[in-house]
Amino acid sequence: MTSQEIIELSHEYLMPTYNRFPIALIKGKGSKLWDANGKEYLDFTAGLAVCSLGHCHPVVVEAICRQAKELIHVSNLFYIQPQAKLAALIGQIFKGARVFFCNSGAEANEAALKLARKYAKVNGHPERYEVITALKSFHGRTLATLAATGQPKHRQGFEPLPAGFTHVPFNDLKALKEAINEQTCAIMLEPIQGEGGIYPAAKDYLAGVRELCHRHKLALIFDEVQCGLGRTGKFLAFQHYGVTPDIFTLAKGLGSGFPIGAMVAKEEFALAFQPGNHASTFGGNPLACAVGLAVLEYMLNHGLIEQVSLTGDYFKEQLTFLAQRFPFIREVRGMGLMLAIELNQNQNGPEIVRRCMEQGLLINGIGSHILRFLPPLIVTRPEIDWAINIISQVFIERTNLS
Ligand SMILES: *Cc1c(COP(=O)(O)O)cnc(C)c1O
Repeated sequence: MTSQEIIELSHEYLMPTYNRFPIALIKGKGSKLWDANGKEYLDFTAGLAVCSLGHCHPVVVEAICRQAKELIHVSNLFYIQPQAKLAALIGQIFKGARVFFCNSGAEANEAALKLARKYAKVNGHPERYEVITALKSFHGRTLATLAATGQPKHRQGFEPLPAGFTHVPFNDLKALKEAINEQTCAIMLEPIQGEGGIYPAAKDYLAGVRELCHRHKLALIFDEVQCGLGRTGKFLAFQHYGVTPDIFTLAKGLGSGFPIGAMVAKEEFALAFQPGNHASTFGGNPLACAVGLAVLEYMLNHGLIEQVSLTGDYFKEQLTFLAQRFPFIREVRGMGLMLAIELNQNQNGPEIVRRCMEQGLLINGIGSHILRFLPPLIVTRPEIDWAINIISQVFIERTNLS
């Protein structure tokens, strides 16, 4: 099929939930993608922080094929070897953790919210159910995770949403402190806000939140769906802060493109769940877990996370040089390979994204003035140089226009 045929078929039969670029991608390898017309792209979106090992990494392909020939699915009425092994690997990295597997970020967060409520109930606080989250946060599209999400634009048309969520400005400890009441059971935050525009938490903020949670006996939940799994140059983003949550969630990068999510909790919290309290038909199936295991083992055995720290620093430095050349860049921010440029108000972010795509570079725009960069974790310096070259050409064009 040609790109045009794929686009027309999609417009006729799919629900119009997505605003798509007029590109149909049909093949990928490493950091590269090809569309149905044969045009090549350098992918600095990685399926929105999903394809951690790049596209069709041999280790991922091999794990899918090998496990698919053995066993694809059995229910959680039985014990599942790849599930146990993946949980054990996460438990080795995060000592004493217990894992619940699901299929997406929203599901992982739903599970975390349910666990936090259950923990309060079984620990002498049946009156507690409220969760405080941050403005500009993103936690998912199910009704409860939408209620948790601190961005009004996503909620419009779906109200009333489940009760029990309060939003406070991010990085404002005083506001958070004042929002805690007798009904509060948890605080849920992204250590680095992703969909909101790449806003890292301040160091003393997360430490302060941890202290508040201890003092009020609240569950501290970190949503690491986007910033976790090596993306920021540490295994988990909260490790930059020396602050440990009670519960954290994973998804996007865990299967490098294969759907899998996980909710991880300290044992004390995890044991609030009893058989029958929570479940997922597909969650933790042999195929998904075999892929997750292959991805994590590759990351850990090939020093990928240390590499992200170095390539991320290099990329950020190059973006900072761009900011010195182009005065309409207001700020460069982020960590590792989770970076963004914020432009001045007179710039047109979506138009810059479109021009980069025409030049063969896929990047992501947030709102009208933020450009987000989420390359695969295996991205190389020459690929970063190539991307910087395209971005600077597009910026020169913008300069000449104005
Ligand atoms: C993408 C994302 C989610 C939602 O994940 P889905 O797999 O789309 O449900 C939740 N939290 C954060 C921080 C995310 O970036």
